[in-house]
Amino acid sequence: MLTRSALIYLSRHEGLKEFAAHFRPFQKMTTRFVAGETIEEAVVAIRELNIAGCSASFDHLNESVANAEEAEKEVAEYLRILDQIEKTGINSNASIKLTQFGLEVDPELAYKNARTVVADAAQRGNFVRVDMESSSVTQVTIDIFKRLRSEFGLNDVGIVLQSYLRRTYADAQDLLKIPARIRICKGAYNEPPELAFPDKKDTDENYVRVMQLLLSSGVYHGIATHDPKMIDATIEFAGREGIGKEAFEFQMLYGVRRDLQHQLADDGYNMRVYVPCGKHWYPYFMRRLAERPANIWFVLKNLFKG
Ligand SMILES: Cc1cc2nc3c(=O)[nH]c(=O)nc-3n(C[C@H](O)[C@H](O)[C@H](O)COP(=O)(O)OP(=O)(O)OC[C@H]3O[C@@H](n4cnc5c(N)ncnc54)[C@H](O)[C@@H]3O)c2cc1C
Repeated sequence: MLTRSALIYLSRHEGLKEFAAHFRPFQKMTTRFVAGETIEEAVVAIRELNIAGCSASFDHLNESVANAEEAEKEVAEYLRILDQIEKTGINSNASIKLTQFGLEVDPELAYKNARTVVADAAQRGNFVRVDMESSSVTQVTIDIFKRLRSEFGLNDVGIVLQSYLRRTYADAQDLLKIPARIRICKGAYNEPPELAFPDKKDTDENYVRVMQLLLSSGVYHGIATHDPKMIDATIEFAGREGIGKEAFEFQMLYGVRRDLQHQLADDGYNMRVYVPCGKHWYPYFMRRLAERPANIWFVLKNLFKG
């Protein structure tokens, strides 16, 4: 737990970011979790996933941008991504982060930027998922999502909820009234115990409760996890309630449990892989290390290999 917190803390630590970004062996290790620095590299990775029976969600890495100009560049990148998805014919939607569109500069700016991207996707018949970030922005993210959802359709824009947050079951109930397409995940940030369950057991229990609520809603949701216990609980619940495989999708991260991704796709489940690309890989990569201590050894081993 200490390692997890420390790594998540370091993910926001600018000093180490500079060091890591210029340290080649460390940078090389990112290729396991990041599909490339360019959109074109990610398209190649997504093509391979499609061949293996998986769809994708395209993520351009860059969070917590510091000014309106940088946020505008991110919008341009996403418009290019949506264009490339259509032109290349790959099976992929897109995932965005509101801090990437200027949420910490001005929420109205983030809303307008997100709106531009969602409008473009909707007009192309594609879908945009608004990722969920730390609890400091949970409410504003939900508020902006609701504005977007009031202007666009159920199949144009969706949101993410995190089962480690105590508020999440109530948020899911509230969002289902709209209704909304939800990705449920466990949550990847450092949160205080007042807001998030400190024990993994409670996060997991809440995950199963929310998953059951989502699957019972009749809306197409994303069950995002690599945890075999969560996956088994989903398959068991769907089987018991007569919910078909086509009614929901499993989602996993690029480079994590590829064996399980292929197995679920082969078993006929909808399997979507979240595919990040871009130069700003550092915070994303550190959160992936934090999720599994063994990943740190994986990095160290490769550092020594040179
Ligand atoms: C598609 C997708 C989208 C996501 N979007 C968001 C989001 O918007 N906001 C947010 O806060 N979080 C997001 N996450 C991250 C999520 O919150 C968790 O941090 C992450 O998925 C790990 O939780 P888990 O459910 O896999 O279970 P865990 O209990 O953490 O892990 C279960 C098992 O999965 C494997 N595993 C998990 N993570 C890794 C890893 N990094 N490397 C190698 N093996 C691993 C290990 O075998 C581990 O024992 C997303 C995750 C996915 C899959």
